[in-house]
Amino acid sequence: MLFKSQDKISKSYDVIIIGSGLAGMTAANKLAKNGRAVLLLESHNKLGGFATWFKRKGGTQIFDISLHGFPFGMKKTCRKYWSKEISDAIIKIKGVRFKNPMYDLETDFTREDYTSKLINHFKIPEEKVHAFFKYLEEMNFYDPPKLTNGELFEKFFPGRKDVLRFLLEPIVYANGSNLEDPAITYGIVFSNFMSKGVYTFQGGTDQLIDKMKSELLKNGVDIKMHSRVDKILIENGKATGVLLKGDEIRSKAVLSNSNLLSTIFKMTGKEHFGSEYIKRAQKVRLNTSSCQVYMGMKEGETIPRMSDLIFYSEDEYFSTDLILSPKVGSQTFSIYYPDCRPHLKNHYAIVSSSNSRYEDWENLSEEDYKVKKQFLIDRALDSLEKVIPGVREKIDFVEAATPLTVEKYTLHQKGASFGTKFEGLDISMNMHKQVDGLFHTGSVGIIMSGWLGAANYGVIQAHGIEGYL
Ligand SMILES: Cc1cc2nc3c(=O)[nH]c(=O)nc-3n(C[C@H](O)[C@H](O)[C@H](O)COP(=O)(O)OP(=O)(O)OC[C@H]3O[C@@H](n4cnc5c(N)ncnc54)[C@H](O)[C@@H]3O)c2cc1C
Repeated sequence: MLFKSQDKISKSYDVIIIGSGLAGMTAANKLAKNGRAVLLLESHNKLGGFATWFKRKGGTQIFDISLHGFPFGMKKTCRKYWSKEISDAIIKIKGVRFKNPMYDLETDFTREDYTSKLINHFKIPEEKVHAFFKYLEEMNFYDPPKLTNGELFEKFFPGRKDVLRFLLEPIVYANGSNLEDPAITYGIVFSNFMSKGVYTFQGGTDQLIDKMKSELLKNGVDIKMHSRVDKILIENGKATGVLLKGDEIRSKAVLSNSNLLSTIFKMTGKEHFGSEYIKRAQKVRLNTSSCQVYMGMKEGETIPRMSDLIFYSEDEYFSTDLILSPKVGSQTFSIYYPDCRPHLKNHYAIVSSSNSRYEDWENLSEEDYKVKKQFLIDRALDSLEKVIPGVREKIDFVEAATPLTVEKYTLHQKGASFGTKFEGLDISMNMHKQVDGLFHTGSVGIIMSGWLGAANYGVIQAHGIEGYL
C-alpha cells in the first residue's frame, strides 16, 4: 500500500528499506516477490533518487536528470527483476559524438566500432587494440587492484592523449572516475558499454519510475514518501528497525540505500561497529558531484536529428582534474528528441552535464552563487550554439543545478553523484558482518554506480538479506 505522509505505521516488517534509488527499489521488488514483508521509506516526494525528472511550464517541459545512457545489461536486469514491459521500453540510442579540438567523430559506442576507430582513425596497430580489449575482458573483480587508469592507458597507448580522451572521457562522465582510480573500475564499466552500445528508456524517467512504483505496489511493498529516516535502531548488535519522525518501526533487517557514510556515522552511530571497520570507513572518499543546465525549446521548434550524446570540449587536452574545475571547457550534451517521449507532441529537451567539486560551490554568498550559475548557463548555451547553429533562438527555458542541488534532493553528502571511491565497496558489502541484519546498497566503489550497477547491487544485497532472514 501507499501510505500518506501523515499516516502512522504500526505494523512490523521483514525488511525496511531506507531510500528509493534504483538499488533500494530493485531490492524492494526482489524481496517482495520472494514473499517478504517490505517497507520502502523515501525522504523525497517521489521515488527514484537520482533516476528522476522535473517538469516546468505546466508540464509541457520535462527534464531528465540521469537518463543519458546505460549499458545493455539494464535490459536484462529489468526483464528479470522488474517486468517485460519495462525491459521492452529500453532501446539503443542512435549515436555518440565527440567534438573537441583533437577530433570530431561519431561512434555507436560498441567494441566493433571502437576497434575500427582505434585502428583506422587513431592508427593504433590492430594487435595492440585487441590486446587492450583482451586485458579488460580478463580483469577480475576479486583480484587485488593492479593498475590505475593512468597506468592502464600508459601501458597500452603511451603518450596518446587523443586515445586517452576517446577511451576515458565518456566513463568519467558515467561514473566520475579519474586517472588515479583502480583500472578495474574503468574496465568493468567500459566493457559493459562496449558489449552492445548505449541504451535509454523510451518514455522518459517519469514513466519508468511510475511503472516501477506500480510494480512495487502490485507485489505488496508498502511505500511511504516524505519520510526521512533519522536513526537505525540497533539492539544487542542487531538492526531492529528505524526511527521515523520520533516513531519506531520494527523490522528483522534494515537495508540502507542512503549515502554510505551517512548510514554509518549519522543514522547508525560508530559505536555499533568494530574499531578497525570504523578506521577504514573514515578513510572512504566520496565521489565528486555534478552540474547540469536544462534547456527547453519553444513550442513547435525543431532541431535536426544528430547524436543523442555529445561529448563536447573546447579544451585542447583532456584532463580528469580539469574536468572538475569550474573553468573546464568540457560538458556532455544529452539531446532528447521527440522519439524519447513519443506520447508528447514534438517534445525536445537538451541537458548539459559536467562533473564538479562540491567545494567550489559551498560557502558562496547568494550573489556569487547566482553569478556562477549564470556562467554555467551562458557556457552551455554558447557551446551548444557551436554544435547546433541557431539553437539559442529556439530555447525559451533555462535552469541550472549545482552540487548543492544534488545534495538537497538526494541527501548525498557533498552532493556526491556516484557514491564513493573504490574503497567504499568493501565497507558497504561487509556492513552486515558488523551489525546483524544491517545491509547497505546503492552507488559505491564506482563499480556499483550508474543505473545498472545500482540496480544489480540492489539484487545482490537482496540475496544477502534472504540468507540472513
Ligand atoms: C547528473 C547525473 C547524471 C547521471 N547520468 C547517468 C546515466 O546517464 N546513466 C547511468 O547509468 N547513471 C547515471 N548517473 C548515476 C545514477 O543515476 C546513480 O548512480 C543511480 O541512480 C544511483 O542509485 P542509488 O540506488 O545509489 O540511489 P540514489 O539515486 O542515490 O537514491 C538514494 C535515495 O535515498 C533517499 N534517502 C537518502 N537518505 C534517506 C533517509 N535518511 N531517509 C529516507 N530516504 C533517504 C534519497 O532521497 C534518494 O531518493 C548519473 C548521476 C548524476 C548525478
